[in-house]
Amino acid sequence: MISSFSSTMLIRSILKKQSSLSSYNNILRRNNYSSSSECVPPARKVVVLGAAGGIGQPLSLLMKLNPLVSMLSLYDIVGTPGVTSDLSHANTRSQVVGYMGEGNLGKALEGADLVIIPAGIPRKPGMTRDDLFNINAGIVKGLCTAIAKYCPHALVNIISNPVNSTVPIASEVFKKAGTYDERRLFGVTTLDVVRAKTFYAAKAQVPVSAVNVPVVGGHAGITILPLFSQATPKADSLSEEEITALTKRTQDGGTEVVEAKAGKGSATLSMAYAGALFADACLKGLNGVPDVVECSFVESNVTELPFFASKVRLGKNGVEEVLGLGPLSDNEKQGLEALIPELKSSIDKGIKFANQS
Ligand code: NAD
Repeated sequence: MISSFSSTMLIRSILKKQSSLSSYNNILRRNNYSSSSECVPPARKVVVLGAAGGIGQPLSLLMKLNPLVSMLSLYDIVGTPGVTSDLSHANTRSQVVGYMGEGNLGKALEGADLVIIPAGIPRKPGMTRDDLFNINAGIVKGLCTAIAKYCPHALVNIISNPVNSTVPIASEVFKKAGTYDERRLFGVTTLDVVRAKTFYAAKAQVPVSAVNVPVVGGHAGITILPLFSQATPKADSLSEEEITALTKRTQDGGTEVVEAKAGKGSATLSMAYAGALFADACLKGLNGVPDVVECSFVESNVTELPFFASKVRLGKNGVEEVLGLGPLSDNEKQGLEALIPELKSSIDKGIKFANQS
């Protein structure tokens, strides 16, 4: 038995340790956590739906390395046994279990704290994210129906595109099932933030690990709005043309990868990295680590749209607070105005799909 004093000290020590982590590198360095004499964080079950895919595999690896995960549940309609066997040999804290085929989806989901969804088809050159709608909308709808049934209280991180529509689809599915909690549903836009940080650091010649850039709006083309006027460290030397070029490159980052892969899919490795960062932030929030703030596409009052990406504070129940946009430059104000109609139409399309099919 530990006394309430020592258990308080234990919790404090875990929180201190977790909040001191500023990057995924630190997590990787700590991956012997469970075998050391240090305190073990609370048990957390994380489920990856689409675990055998281009994103799913490296994302599952990164989650296997995350010491905040105690149970990693992998699900796909193909190939899960191989990925599960392979990953299970890594000597990290989490136990890995794999499930394949719809009949096993419930078992994969039961008891989940966090479900990450990278299931669905990726883009080919010449396609927009919206071109994926017809297939991915149905996949996300089906998976969310099962989440509502088997783990209605889990946080849900949606990676499957078009995120601007798949998140509204998920919300409608959860509403119909009576399980919707807007604090628990997230569209993963972290890759936009990761790209904005990388491109800004290179242009401004500042250390990338020190860079912060909020990215707001949505997750497709012009709906991706990086706020370089709020970027830190400040780089006053950057001209307006350079900021415009950085904005465009961030918006087109996905297409840059799709074209480079020449028909073999879209971003998988950088997406897995970004997805793992966001999942780690969600787990830290669940564990009570203070001041965990990330950008995400969530239910929002920041604009007139029902969903919008902006900075959110994460906590024990998911979204604790949706933060406002802060001061925008004139170009950013224009960008915001321009993105609203496109984002609105993608959101409406998702809501309509969920309710008519
Ligand atoms: P992929 O084709 O390599 O993998 C997708 C996986 O999903 C496959 O293993 C497939 O078997 C599985 N799958 C299909 N239907 C399923 C179902 N009903 N249940 C469970 N699994 C199912 O594709 P990928 O490159 O990993 O991309 C996955 C998705 O992520 C795409 O929609 C892509 O557009 C999206 N994406 C999002 C971002 C982002 O920033 N949010 C970035 C890149 C890609």
